[in-house]
Amino acid sequence: MPRSISDSAEYVVVGAGLAGAATAWQLASRGHQVTLLERSTPAAHDGSSHGSARIFRYAYPDPFYTRAVLESKRLWDGLAAASGTSLITPFGAVDYGPERNPRLLASVLAGEGIEHELLSAAEARDRWPQIAFDTEVLWHPGAGVIDAETSVNAMVALAVGHGARLVTGWELHSVERTGTGYRLRSAAGDTMVAGNVVISAGGWLPGLLGQLALPAGFLAGLPEITVRQEQAFHFKYRESDGGAASGAGGWPTFIHKAANIQAYGLPGGRDAGLAGQKVAEYNGGKLIPSACEQTGEVDPANRRRVVDYVGRYLPGLDLEPYAETTCLFTNTPNEDFLIDRVENLTVLSPCSGHGAKFAPLIGQWAADLATGAGTVPGRFRSVTSSALTT
Ligand SMILES: Cc1cc2nc3c(=O)[nH]c(=O)nc-3n(C[C@H](O)[C@H](O)[C@H](O)COP(=O)(O)OP(=O)(O)OC[C@H]3O[C@@H](n4cnc5c(N)ncnc54)[C@H](O)[C@@H]3O)c2cc1C
Repeated sequence: MPRSISDSAEYVVVGAGLAGAATAWQLASRGHQVTLLERSTPAAHDGSSHGSARIFRYAYPDPFYTRAVLESKRLWDGLAAASGTSLITPFGAVDYGPERNPRLLASVLAGEGIEHELLSAAEARDRWPQIAFDTEVLWHPGAGVIDAETSVNAMVALAVGHGARLVTGWELHSVERTGTGYRLRSAAGDTMVAGNVVISAGGWLPGLLGQLALPAGFLAGLPEITVRQEQAFHFKYRESDGGAASGAGGWPTFIHKAANIQAYGLPGGRDAGLAGQKVAEYNGGKLIPSACEQTGEVDPANRRRVVDYVGRYLPGLDLEPYAETTCLFTNTPNEDFLIDRVENLTVLSPCSGHGAKFAPLIGQWAADLATGAGTVPGRFRSVTSSALTT
């Protein structure tokens, strides 16, 4: 039965993950009238922003992203202050492996004045005996772990505090153009009218793109968006290792690119009882057409690969995972975000497995683009959209 909710808004933001929550917060704090529509609840358990652990790091081979992290961190600090909540825990990060190029990463951090050290494998093993480093290691202490779900809730609460309306259980089915704006229709048959729409639907975006009344030229110019059902595993810290290895305080986050596997890990936080390290293979999950097709089932072959990896490279962890989960990566081919607008409809896909750390900045970029107050880096927009949008 269609619900009767006040049916018009200046801005409707669809999806209350990190991207949508940040956009709603930015728009509402600028005095715009905002409705945030979410098919489930904020930080939906089957989306990409649930749980307590995402890596925050400055190390990128491309200085553009390192500079963006610096900008984002200022906004994270503002968010923490405004919400009175601690959102990033500073564990530091190690980057290593033959394909990770720690030396290049160190030069980028040096260029931006970010504290770091380049260590030999032996020096790093002395410092973190729980990790079997195989190459030089970049250490930067400013990295840490973002509590994703708490961050979403903090941004939604601030948005609501600025007058935004959160509507949960409202699943967008389609958008059509009206004379002055857009009419949104839900899967249950509810409608809502909006002057401007921001779609931040994470892994559901590929399934929605054809329903948004987007001009064919805009659609054709978008990068290919693929969705992977990723999996992450939690391994307990070995008691016998004592000292640095016995608790999250001694474990940094890591990214390790070996020839045959790209792995990352981080203290798992609340998600698995604060007892271990979350470890995953980057882009190790299966491709699915969109989030609607996710099964939530862990692939046993991936579990075996990650367990083998832990046995080989992480001697400070127990060999059997004590918890596991799936999550969605929404990827563009070059891992740049998609933040684009045509007419008064903005599309966000800030994932590619590395979007969490940019969340408040993505909200700022999206709000700038949606309102016309500013623009976004050209690499996030298709060539056709620049021509179509004023
Ligand atoms: C396993 C994993 C590890 C990651 N690790 C890191 C990391 O270490 N560092 C980092 O920086 N980033 C990381 N990321 C990336 C980061 O988490 C994502 O960039 C971010 O969560 C994406 O947020 P989103 O808002 O775009 O998508 P989502 O969080 O999926 O939000 C989309 C929301 O839209 C809602 N929705 C969808 N369709 C509709 C509809 N039709 N109507 C209404 N609502 C709808 C969904 O319910 C959902 O709540 C990781 C991601 C994953 C999955």
